[in-house]
Amino acid sequence: MTLPRVVGAEHAVPLIDGRTIAYANLDHAASAPCLTAVRAAVDELLPWYAGVHRGAGFPSRVSTRVYERARTTLRRFVGAPDDAAVVFTRNTTDSMNLLASAVPAGSRVVLFDTEHHAALLPWRDAHRLRTPEVAADAVGVLDRALRERAAALVVLTGASNVTGEVWPVAALAEVAHRHGARVVLDAAQLAPHRPVDAAALGVDYVALSGHKLYAPFGAGALVGPADWLRAAEPYLVGGGATKLVADGFAVTWSDAPARHEAGSPNVVGVHALAAACEALAGSWDAVVAHEEALLERMRTGLAHVPGLRELALFEPGHDRVGVVSFTVDGIDPGLAAAVLSAEHGIGVRDGAFCAHVAVRRLAEGGQAVRASVGLGTAAEHVDRLGRALRLLVARGP
Ligand code: PLP
Repeated sequence: MTLPRVVGAEHAVPLIDGRTIAYANLDHAASAPCLTAVRAAVDELLPWYAGVHRGAGFPSRVSTRVYERARTTLRRFVGAPDDAAVVFTRNTTDSMNLLASAVPAGSRVVLFDTEHHAALLPWRDAHRLRTPEVAADAVGVLDRALRERAAALVVLTGASNVTGEVWPVAALAEVAHRHGARVVLDAAQLAPHRPVDAAALGVDYVALSGHKLYAPFGAGALVGPADWLRAAEPYLVGGGATKLVADGFAVTWSDAPARHEAGSPNVVGVHALAAACEALAGSWDAVVAHEEALLERMRTGLAHVPGLRELALFEPGHDRVGVVSFTVDGIDPGLAAAVLSAEHGIGVRDGAFCAHVAVRRLAEGGQAVRASVGLGTAAEHVDRLGRALRLLVARGP
């Protein structure tokens, strides 16, 4: 099985001393580079794209077909049943906000407090549970909360964007269902690294972003049961969401998914997202092996950096995808990230990663550096990170 290739893997970037160096991409958790297969798919569509569902011309028919076929690709990619609705959105944030607008009025929503803001903030009235230090304990925490008071929806994350740790989703979803709650999975960070099988995990809704899945920005999806989506007011109003606007402005809304996709949709972005899903779905063994080897190599290198502390929500040894956040004693995370880029050509991220509660809990000062691997990362990149950090520590604060 071959590893999907990304565009720009050979980029050379300028260093502060005037040299150039191959870019070390350790920032996949923010956005992943585009796959060559995705670029080819986009190239193929560019001469033909047109508005979908609105024209009888050939380009419009081609675009409508591509767009609707992408729904099937997405449904299969996340292991959702054939009758699941697939709403195309801009990204995971948009998907979560859409679902928040569609949850029946007065519903109780339960979530853990260390979620990414995209999963946390659409439900500011939600019941927030403190994330326990042992992953398995989360199951008991959720069970007690739902026993005390039922909920309509439990929000879970597949893999943390701060620590890369994989949540025990199947066990949590089983508890949620036992208490009559549905589950939405924020798969933004899990889907690029591991196959997501909604049926096997027992989750109802899956939200994801194309730009983390090796497609360009602007397309994401919410996949899940159609009933709440059918009953909800349209998320946006406008053309496409309407079946009929009668005299006097009495509006008959379209059924889901069109009901929530008002306006001309991003057919090229959706096609790119579907192409990325197809490429990954045919290569999981190679993708997972590549990332596991890089993650182990990176962590071995980081273990030799004096004063470096990895952030972890759960117990040591817990399963994780290729994301590691850390602090280095006496060194400001922003300065570390700037030096890694300017002096070594390494791209990482620093700050609180849109998960302020989690990072405040795990890192003194509420800031950290995050290094994340993927298909645009080579072994030399992670070796360079370890060397660069050792040099930085040797130089002193
Ligand atoms: N959830 C997680 C776990 C993420 O890592 C991110 C992005 O960093 C999001 C949600 C939000 O994704 P987007 O910005 O594409 O909406």
